[in-house]
Amino acid sequence: MKSEKTDGSKGVRAVALATAIMTSAPLYAQSTNGEHMGTTIEAPEIAPIGVRPAAFMKVPGSAQGPEIDRKNGYRIERLGSGLYMVTDNAYQSMFMVYDHGVVVVDAPPSYAGKLKEAIGEVTDKPITYLIYSHSHADHIGGAGGLGDIPVVIAHAETKRLLVRDADSQRPLPNVTFNKRYTLKLGSQVLELSYPGNGHEPGNIMIYAPAQKVLMFVDVVFPGWMPFRRFGVAQDIPGYFEQVRELGHHPFEKLVGGHVSRIGTHEDVELQIEFNDDIKAAASAALRGQAFATAATGIEPANSWAFVSDYTARVASQCVATMTPKWKDRLAAFDTFIWDQCYAMEQSIRVD
Ligand SMILES: [Zn+2]
Repeated sequence: MKSEKTDGSKGVRAVALATAIMTSAPLYAQSTNGEHMGTTIEAPEIAPIGVRPAAFMKVPGSAQGPEIDRKNGYRIERLGSGLYMVTDNAYQSMFMVYDHGVVVVDAPPSYAGKLKEAIGEVTDKPITYLIYSHSHADHIGGAGGLGDIPVVIAHAETKRLLVRDADSQRPLPNVTFNKRYTLKLGSQVLELSYPGNGHEPGNIMIYAPAQKVLMFVDVVFPGWMPFRRFGVAQDIPGYFEQVRELGHHPFEKLVGGHVSRIGTHEDVELQIEFNDDIKAAASAALRGQAFATAATGIEPANSWAFVSDYTARVASQCVATMTPKWKDRLAAFDTFIWDQCYAMEQSIRVD
């Protein structure tokens, strides 16, 4: 569709300027010949946000872990000497047995009520340490039900957030650190470190060097698309960097905090490739789609409508670019690809 060059271009420039100021970013692909490029892309086959598809895509076998014990509602997986994952196939936590007790890492409320029973299948030693991966209630909101635990360890930022949240189900840590903290209990070791903001401030890496097991939550979702908006990453460039860094980490097993199986380096490499692809797809869409002109029927004063019209076309092109290669490679691609494309274009424009 061709649109005429009209006096409205003045209004467009004004809006474009206002938007550039608001987003602190250049506007890409200003139409100079009056052509409205956005009308040429095909609608992606994936249902947009808010529209339920006739059927969701099937979960591939590569995204499925072992079944949980239906009676218990959880399963335990041994990760190495004295180290175990507990999962209900939606959330994941760990515990480590040492000479005099048990270290628990995270207590997701979805099965925390069964955590002591799960540990009891392996040892009758008491829980003496609790580590929080980060502050989010869906991962540690069952901690209050575990009773008094002598030592609760978290990043200083996590404590700050928990003080703010004032949630009795997430007791405050009594040991905090900023960069690194090593917990050595006899021959068992956990190395805690903070890679900076990505998912949220205070989200730490928990590494068991003897077992070569890394727990890093809400970053890579083995076999699956990240949860919406890159796992609700608060800092998307930081998140991208952390996924890339994971590629160099010496772990052999990754406990990602979600989904039904542990992760491997293959899962990390797949996520790196996905991230590279979506960044390229969203960048190309930002360049390729023209900002609407006044001739497209938007009131010149309505800056929000111009931005919404533009970003919707950018996201649509991004989804259409990503779909052929990725729809069968990560479970629930269809569920969150629109969210990822919107998050990506936003991040490229303003971060
Ligand atoms: Zn989280």
